[in-house]
Amino acid sequence: MSCLLIIDVQNDFMKDGSLEVENANDIIKPINDIRNNCSFDLVALSKDWHPENHISFASTHNKKPYDSIITKSNNTQLLFPDHCIQNTKGSEINKDLIVKDKDIIINKGLDKEVDSFSSFYDNDKKSKTELHDILKKHSIVNVYICGLATDFCVLASCLDSVSCGFKTYFIEDCSKGVSKNGTDQSLQKMKDNGIIFINSLDLIQNKNN
Ligand SMILES: [Zn+2]
Repeated sequence: MSCLLIIDVQNDFMKDGSLEVENANDIIKPINDIRNNCSFDLVALSKDWHPENHISFASTHNKKPYDSIITKSNNTQLLFPDHCIQNTKGSEINKDLIVKDKDIIINKGLDKEVDSFSSFYDNDKKSKTELHDILKKHSIVNVYICGLATDFCVLASCLDSVSCGFKTYFIEDCSKGVSKNGTDQSLQKMKDNGIIFINSLDLIQNKNN
């Protein structure tokens, strides 16, 4: 059984968004191609879904984006422009991405005090979303992950997917990173953790997901 997990393809991370990832819109076509040509047992889409004044917002701390703070649990929190505030245009999944009625939406980052890059666990690893339980319930073995951004939420989701015991694939041409350096390091970390790299054409041609 297989699941396609699409991370944070939301307006704020795309062209003209508050936390725009360069060329993010280029991933929509290959993801849609996969949706049109492959059948997965489950498709889940994660959404960064923050309350106002979230801990990850520079504005919450009167700091500048990309400064950092130390959280109560002694973790370093990188700060970002306000983004993906619940029920705003910026938090909506991009309208050009295919989303089907039976797709599962996983909201993350709802706790004002803890950020959540991964769609499985928050950054403190103290609370989890419903994703792991849903994947177990559907007897999922293979998880195919793509989206935004490679060096943050995609990386964290890939690593958690592996640690939860799923055979984990990273769909490279369906993902974009924030920085070249961060992305290179993230790809290495994925390789070191046994994540398998594929692209959309591999999936479409093999159709063996
Ligand atoms: Zn966020």
